[in-house]
Amino acid sequence: MPAKKKTATPRSSAAVEDYLERILELINTKGYARVVDIAQSLKISQASVTNMIQRMDTDGLLKYERYRGMVLTASGEALAKNITRRHRILTDFLRLFGLDEELIFHDVEGMEHHVSPPTLNAIEALTAQLRKQPALLARVTQ
Ligand code: MN
Repeated sequence: MPAKKKTATPRSSAAVEDYLERILELINTKGYARVVDIAQSLKISQASVTNMIQRMDTDGLLKYERYRGMVLTASGEALAKNITRRHRILTDFLRLFGLDEELIFHDVEGMEHHVSPPTLNAIEALTAQLRKQPALLARVTQ
C-alpha cells in the first residue's frame, strides 16, 4: 500500500530533519539504522516511522528495504550532516553557560530547525571567542 502523497515538501520540515539526524546517529554508532531503533529514539510508533521512511525513500533521501534496513542517499546524508552540525554548534554554545544538559538538549532540538546559516556562523564564532574569555564567561555563567 503506497503512502499518502503530500504536496508540502517534507525535505525542509523539522520532522524530516529529526529523522535524518537520528538515522545518521544510529548508522555512526551501530553501523545501521532500523525502524525499531528510530521509533524508540523518537518515541513514535513503528507504523508511523515506516510511513515516514517510505516517504523519505520516495523523496530520494534514503533507500529503504523492509528486511534490510536503510541507507542514506548522498542528498539525505548531506542534509543529515547539516542538521547534526547545527545541533553540535548550538550545544557547544549553550554548554558555555553551565546549563543543565537535559535543558540544553531540549532547547537545541527546537532551535536547530530554525537557525539560519548566518546566525549559526555568528554563534560558532562567538563560542570560539567566549572560550578565550573565561573572566567574561564567569560573569554570565550560572
Ligand atoms: Mn538535534
